[in-house]
Amino acid sequence: MLRCDERVGGVVRFFSAREKTMLVTECPFCKKEHVMVVSTLNWVQRLQGALVQEAFPEMSAEDRERVVSGTCPKCWDKFFKEVSR
Ligand SMILES: [Zn+2]
Repeated sequence: MLRCDERVGGVVRFFSAREKTMLVTECPFCKKEHVMVVSTLNWVQRLQGALVQEAFPEMSAEDRERVVSGTCPKCWDKFFKEVSR
């Protein structure tokens, strides 16, 4: 298994095996970490510059946001509530 500590968007580190990659994202607001497992093939596409929605078409909007910026759904809601006030 390959471990990488390079930050990519909201992903602070990841562990790649041949088929699956574990992504660890960190919310920039509450600093909570979140772990998700994706296909290594798709993650490599993302690292090579594919958009999140291209690399992970099946991913939920919440998880996509975690991959892009790390923002967790809780802080995302809070942010939007504060902006619309
Ligand atoms: Zn958060």
